[in-house]
Amino acid sequence: MTHSAPLLPGGSAAPGKSVSLTTEPLTLGVMGGGQLGRMFVHAAQTMGYFTAVLDPDAQSPAGRVSHRHIQTDYTDPIGLKELAACSAAITTEFENVPAWALRELAKLRPVSPGADAVAIAQDRAAEKAHFVKCGVPCAPYAVIETADQLAAAINQNLLPGILKTSRMGYDGKGQVRVKDAAALRAAWQDLKEVPCVLEKMLPLSLECSVIVARGRDGQMVNFPAQRNLHREGILAVTEVYEGHLPETLQQQAVVAAHAIAEGLNYVGVLCLEFFVLQDGSMVVNEMAPRPHNSGHYTLDACDQSQFDLQVRALAGLPLTQPRQHSQAIMLNLLGDVWFDTKGVARLPDWTAVLALQGTHLHLYGKSEARKARKMGHLNVTGTSAAEVRQVALKAAGILGIEAF
Ligand code: ATP
Ligand code: MG
Repeated sequence: MTHSAPLLPGGSAAPGKSVSLTTEPLTLGVMGGGQLGRMFVHAAQTMGYFTAVLDPDAQSPAGRVSHRHIQTDYTDPIGLKELAACSAAITTEFENVPAWALRELAKLRPVSPGADAVAIAQDRAAEKAHFVKCGVPCAPYAVIETADQLAAAINQNLLPGILKTSRMGYDGKGQVRVKDAAALRAAWQDLKEVPCVLEKMLPLSLECSVIVARGRDGQMVNFPAQRNLHREGILAVTEVYEGHLPETLQQQAVVAAHAIAEGLNYVGVLCLEFFVLQDGSMVVNEMAPRPHNSGHYTLDACDQSQFDLQVRALAGLPLTQPRQHSQAIMLNLLGDVWFDTKGVARLPDWTAVLALQGTHLHLYGKSEARKARKMGHLNVTGTSAAEVRQVALKAAGILGIEAF
């Protein structure tokens, strides 16, 4: 279902002698209750909407702060019906929500991003085909769904490479680095011979990402390209300050991101991840059909956050080009921070971190800290690159996060 009139925030006003808000605010719904859903809920509530979250986990970060939490599986017909009944429009925060569930919801309510775009982003093979179609190069790869395709891939100069499951991977899960044909065969067996792509291992000089938001009318805005540091397949640090990336690379990434969003006829917030190779060339890695971990700095360093834009795009409100007003570094706070060097559980020294100027702590309300689990992030803002780097390195030292 498409919707042309914007879904206005704060209830509908009936002007009389005084303006009375006669109706309850509209509810915006979200599939998924993780930290991205939580920050969407915060942004929607700030603008005066009510929110509904569908997530099976009683303790989900977004469910805990939403007006309504529908605690069912993403495929439960009763839960989906309830979400559609109470929501004026629905988005997703979790890219592995089955596309058919979004299609069902879309029969009843405006849903963005659309199921077709999400389906492409959920499947690495389809995603790469889309990049190629849009004229944006990606790493050399082969689709491996059969033993014959595996045998053929061995002679395609893709080794050493990374075997990635086509579906359901995140934070480096479902990926195996393979150096030769024997390792490739063994890895595919270990992955239970599910559909995969084999990607050539590229010599990276750096990684960056671009977040765009596209409205129902096709209007598109974007944040500047952010520079990302991954450790063990998980985002560790995002840096966005003067000089963090050569200007030409930034422009190239933004142009590519626009082309890919346009090609999907996308509505909502979309993140594109890129690799910059040692020879200076750039390839696209993957996309996320939702706000992205590398965009969390926008909460404190920009005049609109990626979640504000998600709300606006969903509600059909105007999108304006966001402006970054502060230099920024984001440190991801993984569960590791809750353990000392000997592996003994501890509470991080928030007092010392918050005593540093320009630090903004975001915790997702997860009740158990586990290694590699995303528990929160720390944004550091300031007026110069040197300042944010200095403060972020101090904070990292206090928290036991490796310097960068
Ligand atoms: P997420 O969804 O959390 O971004 P993911 O599990 O989908 O992660 P990828 O983005 O495919 O994983 O890969 C994770 C990281 O592994 C990349 O950011 C990069 O550091 C490294 N990596 C992945 N593919 C390649 C490649 N072809 N060559 C070199 N490094 C790679
Ligand atoms: Mg990635």
